[in-house]
Amino acid sequence: MELRKDPITRSWVITGDEPAEGRPKPQGPCLFCPDSPSAAHVIADLPSSGSAPWSARSVVHPSPIYHIEGEPGRRGDGLYDRMHAVGAHEVLVENRSHDRQLWNSSDEDIGYFLRLAAERILDLKHDARIKYVSLYKDFGTHAGQEFSHPTSQLTATLFVPRRVLYELRAGREYFLGKERCVFCDIIQQEERQALRVIESRGDYIALGPFAPRVPYETWILPRNHEAAFERTGLNRPGLRTNLAALLRRTLQRIRTITEEFHLVLHTSPSSMHPSRSLGYWKTIDEDYHWHIEILPVLSSKARSYTFKEVYYSPVSSEAAVATLRAAQIEG
Ligand SMILES: [Zn+2]
Ligand SMILES: [Zn+2]
Ligand SMILES: [Zn+2]
Repeated sequence: MELRKDPITRSWVITGDEPAEGRPKPQGPCLFCPDSPSAAHVIADLPSSGSAPWSARSVVHPSPIYHIEGEPGRRGDGLYDRMHAVGAHEVLVENRSHDRQLWNSSDEDIGYFLRLAAERILDLKHDARIKYVSLYKDFGTHAGQEFSHPTSQLTATLFVPRRVLYELRAGREYFLGKERCVFCDIIQQEERQALRVIESRGDYIALGPFAPRVPYETWILPRNHEAAFERTGLNRPGLRTNLAALLRRTLQRIRTITEEFHLVLHTSPSSMHPSRSLGYWKTIDEDYHWHIEILPVLSSKARSYTFKEVYYSPVSSEAAVATLRAAQIEG
């Protein structure tokens, strides 16, 4: 696998020749259950409040895309740039139980997972080579789910992924003009208009974006400005419980529409080594605002929108939010 930079968009893509059937799916017993016979390489355990030895844990991905060892070997080829896939690739085991997902766990358990995610991101950002840490979860066959155990994945890369890069550039431009954070302005307007707010819970809000890429796209954001998820006070149990509850309830709502989704956390890039060419770090604490994006996969319609150049959502955000707000959820 190799990283290549698109000379037009200046974003990196990972490419290589893989078997047509995709990455090999793990066979046999679950790798991540506490009694698993195959030992996973554990990176960090989060203790639990009960008698269990851990509540959430991070392990090295069994077939990682990014490897921590080696040199990036960044090199030019005419106008093109390429480098090796150096970085880190971890699996975050969300829960000890094989059947406790983010929508049917206790808020305490989800809170442990959120804390683990924050701790891992913080730790990886201390590696001076790392520019960005992505946390994501793909659930369902069409979403590219890899493991049956409740897990999320984390990649640490020497570059900022494309969508985040666009958001950073846009956030900075907005800030340069208005000296305000665009995300804070969105939250204020959404709270005022109350058209696309799904639910608020303490310091967090779930809303349908004004211009959705897919039907029922949902964002979860802190209502008060904070650029980095991992600095968001997740060590404060009250904050964590509110975010855990909002995440759980939002996923329950989405699951009344479809079981399959992509979830991704967008947080600020590492500020350990400011990039001269991008210059996005200067006002980053003021112009970027962390958030979680949930992109439901409506499998029957998947093909109709994923391959289009312009995202087409056949359901408006207002209609989607009305449905999600009214969804019967467990509590
Ligand atoms: Zn399991
Ligand atoms: Zn903000
Ligand atoms: Zn985003």
